[in-house]
Amino acid sequence: MLLVDTHCHLDPRYFAEGADPPIERARSAGVGALICIGVGGLPAAENAVQLAQRRSDIVATVGVHPHDALENSPELEASLERLIGDERVVAVGEIGLDYHYDRSPRELQRSVFARYVALAVRHRKPIVVHTRNAKDDTLEILAAEGAREVGGVIHCFSEDREFARAALELDFDLSFSGILTFKNAASVQDVAGWAPQERILVETDSPYLSPVPLRGKSCEPAYIVHTARRLAELRGEALERIAELTTENAARRFGSRLAEAIRLCQTGRA
Ligand SMILES: [Zn+2]
Ligand SMILES: [Zn+2]
Repeated sequence: MLLVDTHCHLDPRYFAEGADPPIERARSAGVGALICIGVGGLPAAENAVQLAQRRSDIVATVGVHPHDALENSPELEASLERLIGDERVVAVGEIGLDYHYDRSPRELQRSVFARYVALAVRHRKPIVVHTRNAKDDTLEILAAEGAREVGGVIHCFSEDREFARAALELDFDLSFSGILTFKNAASVQDVAGWAPQERILVETDSPYLSPVPLRGKSCEPAYIVHTARRLAELRGEALERIAELTTENAARRFGSRLAEAIRLCQTGRA
């Protein structure tokens, strides 16, 4: 059995011991082919890409998180665009809108999001979307910028069926995090039980959102097993079947580089 963590942050600022120990602990737990999210400035993006170049079991994404919209600049955009061209970069993201924390002005969040959606479409790479309290604007920008041409993922899905339907319609898959294991997550659990089987993924969003029973601890990719088990319960499937499904879905969504990382992990050659 192999579970793919489709969204984790492995920067040195989160893992002082470096990225390799948590990756090895994940492998021991049956978790491999991680998608390392490179956001939070150029060094973090470069760090994710270098990790993916160094390790055959890791691929990367790069983007500008909505929290950091204020820090976007033509120079940053040009540097990230160069990284997006790298074959180990399988998606653009996470990008999106966060009206819960509002760390950057909303108008700016929207314009930066739109620019990077357009960049993803130009480079023919799928998009990893972060959205919080911003359902309508998120859908509107994705539609307006032609995101359907490349599709992507709604990461850390935390909305309802109505939003899920609209996202699926735009060719965005639904990725479930540790939130799925929380008691107060009824609408997310409802969507997880209902969503089409070929459109579901799992992720940790490490170092955030540790699943129950590890809630409160700093999260790492190995913990995804708890989220996958909850997803299996909600769908009335065996854990092995959920692993098989979500791993196939991840390979289909993120393309040949991830598919290769999955094969290498499954055959013990990574
Ligand atoms: Zn996020
Ligand atoms: Zn994230």
